[in-house]
Formats: sequence, C-alpha cells, structure tokens
Amino acid sequence: AVPTAPVCQTASNKPSCKPVIFVPVDRSPEIQEARLKLPILAEEQVIMEAINENPIVVICGETGSGKTTQVPQFLYEAGYTSSNGIIGITEPRRVAAVSMSQRVAKEMNLSHRVVSYQIRYEGNVTDETQIKFMTDGVLLKEIQKDFLLSKYKVVIIDEAHERSMYTDILIGLLSRIVPLREKVRMPLKLIVMSATLRVEDFTENNRLFSVTPPVIQVDARQFPVTVHFNKKTPLDDYSGECFRKVCKIHRMLPSGGILVFLTGQAEVHSLCRRLRKAFPFQKNNIDDDKEESVEEIRKFKKSRKRKKTTALPQIDLDNYSVVPVDEGDEDRDAETDDDIAGSDVDLDLGDGDSEEDSSLPLYVLPLYSLLAPEKQAKVFRPPPPGTRLCVVATNVAETSLTIPGIKYVVDCGKVKKRFYDKITGVSSFRVTWISQASANQRAGRAGRTEPGHCYRLYSSAVFMDFEKFSAPEITNRPVEDLILQMKALNIEKVINFPFPTPPPAEALAAAEELLIALGALKELKEQQAAKLSCPISPLGRVMATFPVAPRYAKMLALSKQHDCLPYTITIVSAMTVRELFEEFDRPAVSEEETAKLKGKKARLLQIQKIWAGQGALQKLGDLMVMLGAVGACEYAGCTPKFCEENGLRYKAMLEVRRLRGQLTTAVNSACADTGLYVDPKMKPPTEAQATYLRQIVLAGLGDHLARRVQAEELLDEKWKNAYKTALLDDPVFIHPSSVLFKQLPEFVVYQEIVETTKLYMRGVSAVEPEWIPALLPPYCHFGKPLENPPPSYCPETGRIRCHRPSVFYRVSWQLPAVEV
Ligand code: ADP
Ligand code: MG
Repeated sequence: AVPTAPVCQTASNKPSCKPVIFVPVDRSPEIQEARLKLPILAEEQVIMEAINENPIVVICGETGSGKTTQVPQFLYEAGYTSSNGIIGITEPRRVAAVSMSQRVAKEMNLSHRVVSYQIRYEGNVTDETQIKFMTDGVLLKEIQKDFLLSKYKVVIIDEAHERSMYTDILIGLLSRIVPLREKVRMPLKLIVMSATLRVEDFTENNRLFSVTPPVIQVDARQFPVTVHFNKKTPLDDYSGECFRKVCKIHRMLPSGGILVFLTGQAEVHSLCRRLRKAFPFQKNNIDDDKEESVEEIRKFKKSRKRKKTTALPQIDLDNYSVVPVDEGDEDRDAETDDDIAGSDVDLDLGDGDSEEDSSLPLYVLPLYSLLAPEKQAKVFRPPPPGTRLCVVATNVAETSLTIPGIKYVVDCGKVKKRFYDKITGVSSFRVTWISQASANQRAGRAGRTEPGHCYRLYSSAVFMDFEKFSAPEITNRPVEDLILQMKALNIEKVINFPFPTPPPAEALAAAEELLIALGALKELKEQQAAKLSCPISPLGRVMATFPVAPRYAKMLALSKQHDCLPYTITIVSAMTVRELFEEFDRPAVSEEETAKLKGKKARLLQIQKIWAGQGALQKLGDLMVMLGAVGACEYAGCTPKFCEENGLRYKAMLEVRRLRGQLTTAVNSACADTGLYVDPKMKPPTEAQATYLRQIVLAGLGDHLARRVQAEELLDEKWKNAYKTALLDDPVFIHPSSVLFKQLPEFVVYQEIVETTKLYMRGVSAVEPEWIPALLPPYCHFGKPLENPPPSYCPETGRIRCHRPSVFYRVSWQLPAVEV
C-alpha cells in the first residue's frame, strides 16, 4: 500500500478567516451540467476552507476529477482575484497550459484576455488577465525577476506527481517565498495538485515546509477497468501490435472510444494513417489539416454499403490474461464486465492492413504535445455521429488531458524519455518501459464514464518488473542548466536548497565544475572547503537569460560580436535537432535499392563539400556544412523536393526553422536592444566571421576538445589517426561522414561522441591551439617551469601546464611565455 499523507478533516468549526466574496460567473447550462458531474465539485467547500485557513494546501485527485479546470474557478468565485493579484497555474507540459486556459475561459464564459496562457515563446496574457496558465519554466523565470512573485495572489503547482525538474524546484522555492510574503503582509497561497496520493516527498519533508500542509483527497468516481495482459513476450513492433489490437476492438467490441498510447509523434502519425486506411470514412479524414464536415460524412456514409457491426459479447482478444486493475479492490472485481472476460475464443483476424474494412467508420485523431492547439481541441468534441472515436496519443494523455468517452485503452507500455550520456552529457531520446504507476494511470483513462478495458501489450511478468514509480526527473539528468537558473536567483549554496528530492551530489558537483569552466560562475579558490557555493558571474547572468543549455547559451552570449548571432542561432538550432541528413548507409532490400542509396549518398557527399565552403570557412567543418545546408534549403523555400534531392530530412529542416524563429525571439527579448532579425536565407559567413564562429564554438564546447595523437606518441596501431579527448581514455576518431575526416586537424571540438564500431566524434570543427588558453582559461594552468618537466613540456615556448595534459599539453608548443 502506498503511504498516504494526513487527510484534511472536513467542516472545521473555526470561522474562516477569509471573508467570502462571491464573484458571479455566467456559465452556460451545458457547462454547468457537465461541471456538476465532476467529483471535485462536491469538495468545493472543503477545499476553499482549507485554502482560506492555510497558506499551503495539497489536493490529490484522480486525473479527470476536475482539479485543473475547477480549482482556479473556485478561487475566482471566492474573490481571490478581485483586489489586485492574479491566480497562476503551472503545468509541466505546454499542451496542458494552452488547452486548459482555453477550456477554463470557455467554462467561465470569459475572454482570453482574462483567462490566458504563457508558454516559453508565446502567450495571450494582457493587463486584464486574472487567471494565468503557464509552463513551470515560465514561472521560474518570473521568480528571477521578482522573487516575491508579487503579482500573484495564488500559485497552483499542477501535476506535481510528474516530478518534473522545474516543478520540484518551484515547490522548493515557493516553500521559502510563502513565509516571506507572510512577513511583508501580502500573503500568498500555494496549492500543490497531484494525481496520486504519493505526496510524502512534499508533505513529510521538514526541510520543505515547517508545518505539514493539509492534504485534501478528492474521491475519484472511477469505474472498474478490466486489465488484459499480453501472454506473449513483449514485441519490438509494438506499433504494429497496437494497430492489430485497435482493429480487433473496433470490429468486435461494443461502442466506446479507443485511446492508444504510443511513444512519439512519428509513430502516432503512422498509426493514424494505417487506421484511417483500414477504416476510412471520407477522404478528408486522411488529411488532418482539414476540418471534417459532418454533412460530408453523412453523404459519404449514405453512398456506402455499410455492414452493421454487432457486438460479439463472447470475444476474448487473443493473447491476454485477465486480472483486475487494482487487485484487492473487491468492488471492481465484482463489477467487471464479463462480456469480454473469460472466453477462450481465439480469433485471428489477420492484420487488416491489406484491405479496406467494412466496419463502422473510425474517427482517428492524433494527440501529442506539439500538435497545434486547434487540432488538439478536436479530441474533446464528440466524434461525428455513426463513427467511433480513436485517439492515438503520446504520454500527454496519461494525466494532463482527459479525453471524454474513452472505454478502451491500448497501452504499448513504453514511453519516450530523455537520457543523458554520463560522459558526454549529450541527451538523446530513448524508448523505455513505463512505471507501474504510469501503467495504472493509463488503464484508468478507460473508466471515466463507464466500465472499461485496458489492453496491455506486455505480459504481467514484464509489468511486475516495472519500477513502481518513475524516478523524479531531477535525479537522472545533468543539472547544469538548473544550477545556472538557481544561481541566477542568487541561491548560491545549492546544496542547502530544499529540493523535494535532491539530485545526486556528483551531478551537482559536475554541474558546478562545468559552469565554472564556462565562466558562468566565479570560482572561489580560497573557499575550497565550502564547495558548491560559487556565485554567478556577469556572463552567467547573460547566459541564464537564454532558453538553451549552458554550453549553447555561452555561444549565444558571445555572438553579438561581429554579427555572428544569426549564425550561432542557426548552429545551435541545427545541433539541437541533430540528424539533419538522410542516412544512406542503411541495409537495402534489393540490388536496385543498394544502387539507389549509393547514388544518393554520392550526391550528398558532393553537395556537402559545396556547403562546407572554401578557405577559412572550411575549417568550421561540419558546422559550416550545417550552416550551408540550412541556408541553401531556406533559399530554395524549404520544400520537400529540395530536401529529397539533397539528402536532407525535411522534418528536421522544418524543426530547425521553427527553433531558429524561437531562439531569435528569445534572444531579442533577452537583450531588449538587439532588434535582431534573422534572415532565413542567410548569406554564408565571411572568412573572418567563420574564424570568430570557431572561437565561439570552442568557448562553448571547450570540454569537448580533442587533440590528434602525434607520431611520437603512437603507442600502438589502434591510435593511428586517433584523437585524445579530455573525457575519455580511449582513442576517438573523426566520424567518416564528417567533412574533416580526411583532413585530421590537430585540435578539434566535437558536438558529440557516438559509439559504433569505434568511438566517433560528430559535428566536428577545427580550432587553433593558441586560442585555448585565451578562451578556456579554467582548463589551463599558468605557472613556473617544472623542475622535471614531463616529456611533453617545451621549455623554449611556454610555461603552460594543463589540467588534462593528455589533451592540452601540446598547447604549450605554440604559446609565448606567460608571466604570472
Ligand atoms: P484533472 O485536472 O483533475 O485531471 P480536469 O480539470 O483536467 O481534471 O478535467 C475535468 C473534466 O473536464 C474532464 O472530464 C475533461 O474531459 C473535461 N475537459 C477538460 N478539458 C476539456 C475541453 N477542452 N473540452 C471538453 N472537456 C474538457
Ligand atoms: Mg489536471
């Protein structure tokens, strides 16, 4: 059993210290009726009394119980915004911030000028705004400007169970801000909302709150959900398995919406396409950019002989065993729909991909966080009459959004998560198993309006091996960006910060070291004992204003010089997107295809040489190729045709375009005077700019420096053409796809190291050794010549000795003597 925090006693007989001002809201009858069905409405009084009487309140309630949409309305009606001060609600996901602000505005019949949202790069907040939904990162930035958050009367931290890093930090910060606001007699209310009862990290953490806040539990009206496990060992092709499962549900089972959990946008789209092909109902449905017209659907249905689908109550979808969602919950067991459970009929329906099916039309909608808001909103509307709703979603549908009318959940059991390489610090997305808590959340989506079914595409044995809960994000990622943000808030002793769950000490130390090396923190040599307490530098303050990782922020911060900013913005965007180029080394199915791929690869290599430029530009290496590719693609209008012909990934190029726009906006707002306009069809940099860019990249990626092994150092053959890096002992090589592969410059910086047959550096630029002490002083020591210099030491030219001699020692060959 999950330990629970104390639950607030109902109906306190103390008189409430907050006078109740009732601000009327003009809701439509339909909205009013829908609201009354939400479990949270029954708790309005308890919730408002707890909030009136306590500075901090925790509210727990199942997803869909009405927390996000209703609590802000309770506060509004109780007059919390009637004298200056607004209600702020933070969400870990942008999609939730946008969609919830729209929903609440609609429910309250108020304009978006009053109920607004703000996400990283956009928003509709006005002077009239009284309820503001935002991402957690946005509120964190606001704290940097106004630590007391004086414009807020109430701050609601939503989805606290997700334990997103910024949410955790906000709770830590607010635990200090709330008492401060009390002191200045401008009390601030903090409400923490969670979909699970596992809140003891917040409530029983005496570093966080001095008084344990009351926990209000909203009873979920959850119908029983029968969970069906896959008998077979888990499949790699879970997307195909989802397809087959949806086909079977749709053909065999009574009406009710289907919700499929997949891991990413591309998978979501591909499954949507397959399903629409298998169960079409009109041509527009294929193209989700067009709005379906109900009239057209009707016409289409008339023109079509449609077999009436009848429910076959005895069907068991094969490969499943049946267990109740919550073992030990007898009520649920008893109510289990037995029209599906318990039968052994094995129906093999094929995969249905080949032919059009003749069952009821399936109204297929995608849902993921980057989907345009208008398209997201479609999932909340009833499907066209005579169709069955099928939403194919990523994890956003797990707790952030409740889709009405879902009776069947298909859970692939996986989630796409960001992983960080411990050595290079580079992040990548990987698909992994979810936690048991997530699996149960997903299953719960099927029982909102009536008893439902959840089909898990994995066996119960695999489920038992899942982690109980997903670890808080802060414990498994590098924290340099977070530490920089905290230092910008003048929280110097990060180690003393009241984290709900503190990050590992090594992660804190590594972050501090990197930030010192980047010059974002001032190193306090005399205070070696007081570790992790270096204050932020002026450069660090500038870096903290850019919404990118510190390495990239440093590049941006340096790029106002010599008009390099448009180029750096493009390089940073392209490095963030990665994989700009098509991969032609994949295995081919036929000889014909092999030849085709070979041709395409040759063409790409040829054009990459052109993009790599001439003279000084060439030394920028792969980053120049990125600049050339983006410039050329934009010049050609960024068409799929251009990308196809030139070996570029069209989607990646669109993403680069989007990021460039966003970063330009961010840079303009960070440096109010820039007035920067980035011309998409940027001219190539001049030779001088290319050289500055190499220095800028070195300054940002300094710890990713590598030096070619010299002939006299060649210990054995495996070091031939190899490089030494600061971070690894093994030989690393320039990736064969790099334009610098043959040139083997003496010093390079790389974007990332990938391991295939060998360790390869990708995203490589050449740098000049004499820049290193100037641009990366923290990595170099200046001192008197050593008595017994190591063989690498050159007495004529330098007195430089480096932290990491294996990489840096040759620098000394090039340097004039430096007196200290
Ligand atoms: P919680 O935050 O507790 O998970 P919400 O407040 O998000 O619950 O949702 C309450 C109800 O409002 C749900 O039944 C959900 O389906 C409904 N709802 C939320 N957004 C919309 C929308 N845009 N359109 C229609 N219904 C919505
Ligand atoms: Mg919610």
